[in-house]
Amino acid sequence: MREGPRWRRVATCKCGAEPVYLARYSGHHLCPKHFLESVEKRVRKEVRKQGPFGLDKTIAVALSGGKDSVVTLRLLHEAFRDNPRLRLVAISVDEGIAGYRPAALEAGAAHCRELGIEHHIVSYQQTAGLTMDVVAARPDRAHLPCAYCGVLRRVNLNQAARDVGADFVATGHNLDDTAQSILMNHLKGDVARLARMAPHPPDRVNEGLVPRILPLRAIPEKEVALYAILKGWDFHDGECPYSVEATRGRYRDMLLELEAQEPGTRHSLLAGYDRLAPLVRGLEDAKLRPCDRCGEPTSGKGECRACTLVGSVGGKLNSTSRSD
Ligand code: SF4
Repeated sequence: MREGPRWRRVATCKCGAEPVYLARYSGHHLCPKHFLESVEKRVRKEVRKQGPFGLDKTIAVALSGGKDSVVTLRLLHEAFRDNPRLRLVAISVDEGIAGYRPAALEAGAAHCRELGIEHHIVSYQQTAGLTMDVVAARPDRAHLPCAYCGVLRRVNLNQAARDVGADFVATGHNLDDTAQSILMNHLKGDVARLARMAPHPPDRVNEGLVPRILPLRAIPEKEVALYAILKGWDFHDGECPYSVEATRGRYRDMLLELEAQEPGTRHSLLAGYDRLAPLVRGLEDAKLRPCDRCGEPTSGKGECRACTLVGSVGGKLNSTSRSD
């Protein structure tokens, strides 16, 4: 009996070059050049979709120093650097986590210095009179550290964005983050929170909330990391000591398993959400009002969750605070 050929066809990029990445959801093998181009094309498309941003506007990038925020900052800088009527600034939040945040802040600051981007740092210590290390060590805290950290970060960023005159805040949420939030809100039946999710359309302003844009929301996390590596951009890759307690991890694991079995699940969740969002955004309970205590926008009545949580661990939110 004749034997078949002993060689095996090796997958290549469409240009014939050796691939560095297989996008399982599309079946495409991509070489470095076409991988970079593909990410940039999708980010440009997403930014266009989330605009228009108008003239004489300021975008503040939430810069943690991790891969997502570094890629967001640099791609927005690339997109708008020839536009004198669009100002790009960076805001970093210092949660007060020793051994973790200082290195990340420095990683972010280095990019701002290199690109000549104005950089502001705000801290929980100044805004609420406490650090995450203090919160995490309290034996009487009723929640996981991330519950306090999440609400504090939101308030810090929003206040800082208003203080620097930002019209939009760009965050580094990637496709994995976005799909996790959509899944989480669906599974909790939280339609109001689904309706409030970013990106916030520029024509639908919620009083006091600086609208958010998410340039990387269509890019899987792995692709963001590979993009930064291929570009040779340094980023902070450390893990927060309190992240092991993050509840979001359950949804991340669930989605990764679904994606492994059904490549494209994250994209489908996002596409479904984009069709649903315009239908639910007008709901009455999706609207925000000012907190009775700190004045920040909140979805509830009386004082906001940030004031309640911070107060329960001995802190107090300022109504305005910022350091340059
Ligand atoms: Fe804050 Fe939790 Fe993120 Fe750590 S993992 S920075 S505690 S939200």
